[in-house]
Amino acid sequence: MHIIIDPGHGGRDPGAQGWVIPERTFPPTLEKDLTLLYALDLEKELITRGHQVTLTRRTDKYVSLQDRANLTQKIRLPPADCFISLHFDACQYPKVRGTSALYNNWGNQSSRLGKPLAEALVTEVVKSAGTMNRGVFPRPSYKLNDQGELVIAESQIYVLRHAKVWAALLEIGFLSNYEEEKLLVSPEFRRLVVEGIANGIEKWGREYLK
Ligand SMILES: [Zn+2]
Repeated sequence: MHIIIDPGHGGRDPGAQGWVIPERTFPPTLEKDLTLLYALDLEKELITRGHQVTLTRRTDKYVSLQDRANLTQKIRLPPADCFISLHFDACQYPKVRGTSALYNNWGNQSSRLGKPLAEALVTEVVKSAGTMNRGVFPRPSYKLNDQGELVIAESQIYVLRHAKVWAALLEIGFLSNYEEEKLLVSPEFRRLVVEGIANGIEKWGREYLK
């Protein structure tokens, strides 16, 4: 398989920020640093398993969403099979934790096929690292407003909508949860998550890439 790994954020876009864990002192965890650490380890793991990997960035630099998605078309020999964007979640409720994934629900049929990939990633990360399963969600998602009209509840994800291959965005865990952040920054936990992601990709590939 040829897999594109997209470490979310980078450069002037730090993404979410964790708590300042006392034993780590300042600076706090930044999502952009963590996504890169996980992506580089995942690249190693996938290469060990005989796959080809392309990263959308290898350093702490800003890459536009357009450039990330465009990479799915530029890669030719061999063409990419899937695109996986790595992120960490944050929200205002400090107890919320767990792993989830997003897939595109906009436009043509092929991009909706990201759902099984999203499901395989979440299932295998939960199995390997023991995080809480928060499920998979379509983007955009819709809801009824007071007038009974269908309106957008959660907007589209650019890289998922514009990827020309099966794509999913994995939210590994919550940086806004103090306990979960402590796990996310530990190398042992990272190894378990990376194994889970690689297992998920292979499980999906066995079923959907014929
Ligand atoms: Zn993010």
